[in-house]
Order: sequence, then structure tokens, then C-alpha cells
Amino acid sequence: MILTKQQNAAAQTIKCKICFATFQSTSARKSLEDHASNKHSKKYEECFV
Ligand SMILES: [Zn+2]
Repeated sequence: MILTKQQNAAAQTIKCKICFATFQSTSARKSLEDHASNKHSKKYEECFV
């Protein structure tokens, strides 16, 4: 089974529900936590769940 890059990208993004920034789902959890705390002073769960 072969996925194109486009299909792959669509299937593998995480969106911040506060500012709608998108991240690769392969991004380290830490970088998402950094976004949450630096941009919004919130926890990961408040931005991405
Ligand atoms: Zn955000």
C-alpha cells in the first residue's frame, strides 16, 4: 500500500483548537506543549484535545 505525500499530510496533522495552527502529528509532544504554554499559557490538553 502506497500513500501519496498529500494523503499522508492530510491524515497526519494536528490542529490547535485555539489558534488553528497545524502541526505534523509526528511532531514531538514537547513541541506541542511548548506551543500551548508559549502562545496561550495553557496546557497541551486545552489546545489539542
Ligand atoms: Zn495555538
